[in-house]
Amino acid sequence: MAEGEDGGDAGLEAVFKRLIGATGPISVAHYMAEANAHYYDRADPFGSAGDFITAPEISQMFGEMIGLWLADQWQRAGKPQLCHFVEFGPGRGTLASDALRAGDKFGFHPQVHMIEGSSRLRQAQQLLLPGATWHDGLDSVPREGPLLIVANEFLDALPVRQIVRTEQGWRERVVVHNGERFLPVAGARPMDSAVPAELMDSPPGTILESCPAASGMAYEIAMRLKAQGGAALFIDYGYGAPQTGSTLQAVRAHEKVDPFADPGLCDLTALVDFAQLKQIALAGDVECLGPVGQGDWLMALGIAQRAAALAQSQPTKAQDIMTALDRLVSPDQMGALFKVIAYRGPGWPEGAGFGG
Ligand code: SAH
Repeated sequence: MAEGEDGGDAGLEAVFKRLIGATGPISVAHYMAEANAHYYDRADPFGSAGDFITAPEISQMFGEMIGLWLADQWQRAGKPQLCHFVEFGPGRGTLASDALRAGDKFGFHPQVHMIEGSSRLRQAQQLLLPGATWHDGLDSVPREGPLLIVANEFLDALPVRQIVRTEQGWRERVVVHNGERFLPVAGARPMDSAVPAELMDSPPGTILESCPAASGMAYEIAMRLKAQGGAALFIDYGYGAPQTGSTLQAVRAHEKVDPFADPGLCDLTALVDFAQLKQIALAGDVECLGPVGQGDWLMALGIAQRAAALAQSQPTKAQDIMTALDRLVSPDQMGALFKVIAYRGPGWPEGAGFGG
């Protein structure tokens, strides 16, 4: 692939331009899916030298709390000998490694399955989790033995579809190139039938966003939990009640940038619709716990006590540990915008930290 002037990969920009030139505008969902596939295969985006930082990269305590939650579920379900830890979008593998180390203390030794689209990140994960198996999706994950699933900041990376109200009615939001840059516009074909009746008469410019890929995966997870038992934890930033407007955003070098500039060179995300995840649990007939704020959930699981213990054993790092704790739990940091929701299979216990 060609190197761009900024040292980045100019290949995708050229591909999009050719595609749009040959066949017309592409949907926002198509744009986001290709841009992110490209982005995650290009470089390690995490950490202070990268583009953004995620909770497991802030502190080992985050993965440890997830490991405790999963091990607790497994223990209270009678410690099934055959069971599978499944992570969607494991990034560097840090969360899985911290979670499995914490679970190990309780005798929780699941088979480890990683669902990862990026070959570059698969390599990074392999260093931390040499015994794991990699998959493109849930389909190849074994169908026997309960699944203990986690997805942190995964659903937000999946492509969203947007439809926009125009004077002529609802249209899909599509991406064109105006000779200088990519930009989103209303497409040509009517989309009125995709709009719920109560929103039909929204003012022109109103955008409705949905994430069919996230809904599809959540439903598939619900079906698997129903069939083989287990529980799933989704942690992401998002909203709890239906809303309108585009939430598509791009981050590069820790700054927000235009999502339609430099496709493939910045991380594209959209807020996760937690109300929809609840609906899917209902439709899939599995129990849904939450959503609750990440801060409340981590505090209920004992992250403050863990921080105090870590700080005591490493006095020179005490300040850093407390700063990390604050980033993860404070409502003005990640504590409130990030939310946790869980699904549990039939007969699986109430999960800790959901106030039930
Ligand atoms: N969970 C990690 C990484 C979050 S970034 C953390 O919290 O640090 C999103 C992750 O999802 C990356 O590993 C990315 O490669 C992966 N990903 C994004 N879209 C994907 C898809 N469609 N299929 C599989 N993996 C995907």
